[in-house]
Amino acid sequence: MRILISNDDGIYAPGLAALAKAVETFGEVYVVAPDRERSGSSHALTLHRPVRIHERSPRWYAVEGTPTDCVNLGVLEILKDDPPQLVVSGINLGPNVGDDVMYSGTVSAAMEGALLGIPSIAISLTALNDENPNFKPAQRFAQKLIPKVLEKGLPKDSMLNVNIPNVEAYEINAVEITKLGKRRYAGSADVRTDPRGRKYYWITGEDLGFDDVEGSDAHAINHGKISVTPIRLDLTHEHLLELFQGWKL
Ligand code: MN
Repeated sequence: MRILISNDDGIYAPGLAALAKAVETFGEVYVVAPDRERSGSSHALTLHRPVRIHERSPRWYAVEGTPTDCVNLGVLEILKDDPPQLVVSGINLGPNVGDDVMYSGTVSAAMEGALLGIPSIAISLTALNDENPNFKPAQRFAQKLIPKVLEKGLPKDSMLNVNIPNVEAYEINAVEITKLGKRRYAGSADVRTDPRGRKYYWITGEDLGFDDVEGSDAHAINHGKISVTPIRLDLTHEHLLELFQGWKL
């Protein structure tokens, strides 16, 4: 059996190697990942320049493109003769909760897998840049979740978004099935001036934390739990159909 893994932190990210190691017991692992960090690239597909694939070592491919390019080319080109039965994206350095999923390349790689009809999982670790990442609990949980997904499958047009607290394994309390929460940021850009006097911007935003709503992904990881959120690909707002039908457009 073939498993495709990807990420948005790039082919050299330690989380990718940790994920490859964790899933190798379940099948033949193919790594197709961006040649550099592409965090925040969402579901972008590269359409207006050539995308080259470099085989770095057997079954490890670096792609000059986005996470979505990687999964798309991984499934439809590299593995076209024998497609993978599972796509796993991660292990991302940093959580992907609430609104983050709209920007996340990690989640989008898994969404692309789901769009291609393959059971897909995104895995993120809550480590911040200045913290030491501990991938062990994420590896261990991947080894628990993957056989379940392979056995039961995932419903059509869905994927699982997993967030793991960056703590020692024994500190993890439980696994909670959650809804997307709400993450708060303040401001949007750090404005600076270049040596020629022109303004430029670092898109950022101060992290104000999460709305601590019970049942949400953010609440779960804040309380030392692993969060598993089922995500749907159909973004239709079902409850609003009737409202807008009432507009008689
Ligand atoms: Mn990332």
